[in-house]
Amino acid sequence: MRNSGYYLRRTKIVCTIGPASGYPAMLQRLIKSGMDVARFNLSHGTLKEHAAYIENVRTISKNIGINVSILIDLPGPKYRIGRLAGGQVTLKKGNLVRLTTKDIEGNDGLLPVTLPNLLQDINTGDTVILDDGAMRMKVQAKDRDGVDCRVITGGLLRQGRGLVVPGMKISTPFLTDQLKEDLLFAIKQRPDYLALSFVTSADDIESVKSILKKNNVSIPIIAKIERTEAVSAFNSILNNTEGIMIARGDLGVEIPLQKVPMIQKDLIKKCNRAGKPVITATEMLESMINKISPTRAEATDVANAIFDGTDAVMLSAETSIGKYPVQTVKMMAAIAREAEKKLPYEQILAERRLWLERETDELISYNACQTAYSLRAAAVVAYTQSGSTAIRISHYRPNVPIIALTPQSKIIGKLLLYWGVRPILTVQPSSFEQFFSLGSKVCQDSGIAQPGDLIIIAAGIPMGKTGATNLLKVERIGDETK
Ligand code: PEP
Repeated sequence: MRNSGYYLRRTKIVCTIGPASGYPAMLQRLIKSGMDVARFNLSHGTLKEHAAYIENVRTISKNIGINVSILIDLPGPKYRIGRLAGGQVTLKKGNLVRLTTKDIEGNDGLLPVTLPNLLQDINTGDTVILDDGAMRMKVQAKDRDGVDCRVITGGLLRQGRGLVVPGMKISTPFLTDQLKEDLLFAIKQRPDYLALSFVTSADDIESVKSILKKNNVSIPIIAKIERTEAVSAFNSILNNTEGIMIARGDLGVEIPLQKVPMIQKDLIKKCNRAGKPVITATEMLESMINKISPTRAEATDVANAIFDGTDAVMLSAETSIGKYPVQTVKMMAAIAREAEKKLPYEQILAERRLWLERETDELISYNACQTAYSLRAAAVVAYTQSGSTAIRISHYRPNVPIIALTPQSKIIGKLLLYWGVRPILTVQPSSFEQFFSLGSKVCQDSGIAQPGDLIIIAAGIPMGKTGATNLLKVERIGDETK
């Protein structure tokens, strides 16, 4: 059983695993420091390395008895600069540069690019952004062989760097052969979540779901929002996905940076309303890649994402290749705990009351949170088969931990991403009494409740069946036999 700090932290921490963290001793420290979700970004490293990291996470998690969710992040269609003479060229402001799809070695006047339908997808007047915003060009003209651009901001361009055209309608299908191959690898790893990069529409997600279906698997999908089109099509993407990642890295290249904070707030609000988990990602504690402490701005960014309503905060290079993965996770957990103490729980409950539908399961879940707040209870305990009781309670953001007791091991990884939910595998209770005393015991063992404290219990009756949440019980610890 973990210490109470683990149960008291509501915001989930997603850590990207790489060479700095994929080995057993480090994974053990990361899990103990607060990693809830291990992310494997297939854009980097080999499939063999990722398979080994995943196995390590599973082994360590089992050995130390702390659950970890597995998220595999599939690279989408990212476009890049091809081979360059000497590996790099200098682009000079004002110069004309031609883009081509030919497989040639480029120079400072001719750049090969991996955008298959270059001539169709790029138009005169478009802006071409290179290397995550370091350089910019404007498209002047195009002909049958290539596209001519004027360099607006020059710099040193290395081969393989990314190329982005904000707002570009891509005519090539989302599901490339590479993505299919990565997807088959991911299916074999049995992850709790799959993240999809560069989605632009609900159809992109559907195309991946149809492959999952053909393989007789159902894996929740997190759509990464990093393209202008994904922001425009957000509502339909959200309807067709199980979660969202606000991938601020690539998003901040496509969209003027000053707009990113407002988009973050807006998307988080929509995810909260839909009851779907949202991850705020990228550069959250970036300076900790090389330094032992973050900047004030970074610490504030993590706290602000929590005030915005995010379910999870993510670390990328900080934990995959950084020098201080453990310190970074500890720092993130500490910032989260402080921010969560100041969340306006009463106001959130009042606002979300307006979301309530006249459904028993919604009313019970909401009232579990309201009762916990009013009676100053120590925890809400949800008994859940499918996870839905705990997820509904998370939707209303109680001011205490949500202990999700479940006999279903397969839902543990899914629940780990939801705000406030701490899933625990239990036996199937054979009676109400056994169930109530199980709730009391877990809350005491975890240190979040003491004899005399109240806990709020929510469940669906009959137990053991997946169905509606219809029971709400106030239990005093130490009182369970009365
Ligand atoms: C991002 O762009 O912010 C992101 C999370 O995606 P990736 O790490 O794959 O670049």
